[in-house]
Amino acid sequence: MPDKLILFCGPSGSGKTSIVHHLLGRIPELAFSVSATTREKRSGEEEGRDYYFIAPEVFRRKIADNEFLEWEKVYENGYYGTLRSEINRISRTGRVAVFDVDVEGGLKIKSAFRNSLLDVFVRPPGIEELRRRLVARETESAESLEARVQKAGKELTYADHFSHTIINRDFDEASLHAEKLVKAFLSGVPQEGNR
Ligand code: 5GP
Repeated sequence: MPDKLILFCGPSGSGKTSIVHHLLGRIPELAFSVSATTREKRSGEEEGRDYYFIAPEVFRRKIADNEFLEWEKVYENGYYGTLRSEINRISRTGRVAVFDVDVEGGLKIKSAFRNSLLDVFVRPPGIEELRRRLVARETESAESLEARVQKAGKELTYADHFSHTIINRDFDEASLHAEKLVKAFLSGVPQEGNR
């Protein structure tokens, strides 16, 4: 089992992916855990860097073959999951895997790696701000935007299950907070959770 892993979770539009990318650019010890998904590739995304984009039947076969540490049907036609092989791949490089997953997936990763994990919940300042960010991102149809906002409302009620919370009001401030938490964790300083 890897001795250190880092989890960022929170609702879609909370800004967790941007925070994770900021950290990956600043801390060379980290490696992004690339999830598998059945959703369409967005413009600017790359196979094997952002996700492994696979067909639903391939995803379902991997579920049957127990290849996922955790998986979720996050939206209609949208399966997402963490492959066990991805964690092994990163472990072999000697780097520390960073997960960027939804809240359900986060809870599963947390229970699988209880003692070796830095777990951080990223929350937007509020639902209306989250809706505004999702609209500005221009990646969603009206329907999938509503689905994401609804899911976010429920996910926010799970914040207390995670050891650290970052409120992403201002990106620079939130990334600095994240960077401090991660650097302290990597250097072995005991982590004071905020709960
Ligand atoms: P998006 O479609 O915006 O890339 O991601 C939708 C949601 O799925 C986000 O909250 C994202 O963090 C989550 N997600 C991405 N990869 C995984 C994964 O491997 N497992 C789970 N459970 N959720 C994931």
